Amino acid sequence: MPLSITTARHTSFAALTVFAFLGAKAFTQTQPITIRAASAFDGTGRSIPSPAIVVRDGKIVSVGPSAALGAGRAATYDLRGLTILPGLIDTHVHLDTHFGADGRPTSRGETPAQSIMYEAENAYITLAAGFTTVQSIGSPLDVDVRAAIARGVIPGPRLLTSIRPINENTGTPDEIKAFVRKLKADGADLVKLFASKSSREGGAQTMTDEQIRAACGDAKAVGLRSWVHAHSPSSVRAAALAGCTTVTHGSQVTDAELTLMADRHVSFEPNIGLVSQNYLQNRDRYYGIGNFDDQGFKFTEDGIPLKLAMFKRALKTSGLTLLMGTDAGAGAHGRSAEEIIYRVQVAGQPAADALRDTTSLNARSLELSEIVGTIAPGLEADLIAVDGDPLKDITALRRVVFVMKHGVVYKNLSKP
Ligand SMILES: [Zn+2]
Repeated sequence: MPLSITTARHTSFAALTVFAFLGAKAFTQTQPITIRAASAFDGTGRSIPSPAIVVRDGKIVSVGPSAALGAGRAATYDLRGLTILPGLIDTHVHLDTHFGADGRPTSRGETPAQSIMYEAENAYITLAAGFTTVQSIGSPLDVDVRAAIARGVIPGPRLLTSIRPINENTGTPDEIKAFVRKLKADGADLVKLFASKSSREGGAQTMTDEQIRAACGDAKAVGLRSWVHAHSPSSVRAAALAGCTTVTHGSQVTDAELTLMADRHVSFEPNIGLVSQNYLQNRDRYYGIGNFDDQGFKFTEDGIPLKLAMFKRALKTSGLTLLMGTDAGAGAHGRSAEEIIYRVQVAGQPAADALRDTTSLNARSLELSEIVGTIAPGLEADLIAVDGDPLKDITALRRVVFVMKHGVVYKNLSKP
């Protein structure tokens, strides 16, 4: 068993490990795998009724009508009644964060081995929830977990990481540039900036405009994307003007910043449906740590309707790229789909748009469009199946029945 499975909630995942290893064995052969289902959503907006998908050597070979397989031929996986989607993508998780032995999210007193096992557990439950690619923003632990997942020895999503963040104390613009170069050398996939305070402290800008320009400018120079934590209008403006790749949070933005981001082709990743709700659901576990005090929780609670209103304005901003990232931390891992469900059920985003954001658009934002995010020949066979049609009932995303990554089946709860 690759993970210590200690709670009832995780017991069902024990069985999944078996599939992972059987799948890995099957994959070393080059026999094609065939999948039939009730329908498929291809990631770009197209629905395919009764699809047949052929997979070989970890890649999608063909996608077409079921009849193309031949009526009498049985599929390797007959997922009748289920809808297939590209593996989901979350552009913002904190895979290292967890509730430890004392029930608190601090890692106090943990050995490094214990900490990394918690991260492996989070990787596992994230994959089982249908997320086959995530961007962790980010922890030094991610580097070894990313390598272990890539080796195929532990189950988890394709993992990208920013390793260590940049903030106002990282130093002068020259010191920030040196920091970015070191991140690149250490294998970072992107850089993360804290350009404003936490929303629990009011969200005011912390890094200077010059520091933000140095970080995002140098990231671009060495081929790294930049993700900027920014709540206040001034911090969002500074990030957009500095040519940073993506602004995350943006809880206090006005129409002017939304339009500026659209004009400057800066993506926006609001987090409206999971992170704040999770803090409130786990208030006792977080309470008393840093800014998780009465005032901080009041900011969190008051922020939920404000963020909802902000997101509705963002939806109406023409040309704005809206990524699907959750900011999932301890207590929220494995529940990233709640962000999508909230967008559709509460904020009124059309389901097809929310699903496209989570798949093909997110893949593009990670510069992985040629690899994942769409069901198309030549792309990685990262495919999931959910019970129901998420275009009609978005809560189907809570019922992930089948998970394949690189042609390996990690979960299959479908009826034989
Ligand atoms: Zn975050």
